[in-house]
Amino acid sequence: MNNKKVCTISYGCQMSERDSETLTAISNNMGYSRTNDPAEADLVIINTCCVRESAENKIIGKIGQLKHMKDKKPSLIIAVAGCMVQQPGILEKLQKRAPHVDIWTGTFDYHKFEELLQTSQEGKKIACISEKETEVSEAVPLAEKGKLRVNVNIMYGCDNYCAYCIVPYVRGRERSRPKQIILDEIKSLVDSGCREVTLLGQNVNSYGKKDGFDYDFSDLLQEIDKIDGLFRVRFMTSHPKDLSDQLIAAVAGGEHLCEHFHLPFQAGSNHILEAMNRNYTREYYLERVHRILEEIPAARLTTDIIVGFPGETEEDFEQTLDLVRTVPFTQAFTFMYSKRSGTAAAGLPDQIPLEVKKRRLQKLMEVQNARSLAWRNNMLDQHYEILVEGQSKTNPESLTGRTRGNEIVVFKGSEDLIGKLINVRIDSANSWTLFGTMM
Ligand code: SAH
Ligand code: SF4
Repeated sequence: MNNKKVCTISYGCQMSERDSETLTAISNNMGYSRTNDPAEADLVIINTCCVRESAENKIIGKIGQLKHMKDKKPSLIIAVAGCMVQQPGILEKLQKRAPHVDIWTGTFDYHKFEELLQTSQEGKKIACISEKETEVSEAVPLAEKGKLRVNVNIMYGCDNYCAYCIVPYVRGRERSRPKQIILDEIKSLVDSGCREVTLLGQNVNSYGKKDGFDYDFSDLLQEIDKIDGLFRVRFMTSHPKDLSDQLIAAVAGGEHLCEHFHLPFQAGSNHILEAMNRNYTREYYLERVHRILEEIPAARLTTDIIVGFPGETEEDFEQTLDLVRTVPFTQAFTFMYSKRSGTAAAGLPDQIPLEVKKRRLQKLMEVQNARSLAWRNNMLDQHYEILVEGQSKTNPESLTGRTRGNEIVVFKGSEDLIGKLINVRIDSANSWTLFGTMM
């Protein structure tokens, strides 16, 4: 049986996407080739997210849909992995709701996936969810060799315990991968065709601190910058509280280090920031932004914002709007607060009604979308270096690439440009995309 197929459906952040790559790669090694169509798959992997309720609801719906497929094709193996499954005490509920699932596995057990798959091939249902992280597992294979852009974990877990956030509970304690392992991994990626890496961590700015490394994130970046053949280095997420001058200086002085800081501020009011346990003030955040722009005038800033955290008043929300009007963010990812059980904020009084959250989100998006468009319009007629990624999804006759600031540009050109750095002039813009001409 050599023509078995795996379809991996991934939800959530880039870290979750990276985990999906590992699960897919393990399946590939076991003889499953990749498909994007669940209907033709013999194995469907759903890699889950539980950061917000809306993601969870979507996933539960998807798992439900797979029941019909399994009824039609009883040999289909369904595996559900990741953050949602890792939530304490949830497995039984999920199993009751979806008895058709064959494998349940959490965020600390990816390296056991081969074994789990073997067991389910014997027709047994199985659940494997370790409660705690083990040592950093270095078995992180990629499904696709020769990818142009690759996410690279530099650390796992999170110790920050922001009051709203479930990540520390489902991803375990913060632990960093040693520098040499990361450098070797990136070198071998470059040998197989990778030109851009995104270094991933929940708080890259605290890289190595807890593990007592005698180098920090800025040192790591500087070494990665020297790797031959690598065109671009990105990183996320930067927690404002740990954003050091050294990091800003490293990016300012780097050759391949993209001048893009994803710097979530979450809320504009000090009272809410404190309740969120973010460990910085609005003034401190603005000072960091000022410092970045002073050192790197071309820097791009993006952010995450939550509206409707418990106790958020209209005045608090106005301060969030004010911050968005003050800082030149090119893009903001905006969310309604979602109560996650087990987190500190779930027990707070003054939960905000849904209609209020919706109204605030709408207003916030209006303000930021206008800012984003104005920013893009400012880019018109200017020239930018882009890394050509491939055919445009919306227009197969065009190519697409990204600026160093992570803006997507669509332009006309031949496929042999894929993987190369070229210059484009920006001709027009809409809210999400720029259109340009190759120079
Ligand atoms: N480690 C990153 C964020 C990871 S989660 C950081 O500290 O910035 C990604 C984003 O999801 C967060 O920045 C936050 O804006 C949002 N988020 C997390 N928990 C949430 C919740 N309970 N409700 C709404 N949004 C949430
Ligand atoms: Fe969640 Fe805060 Fe950790 Fe980010 S830093 S993952 S928001 S707890």
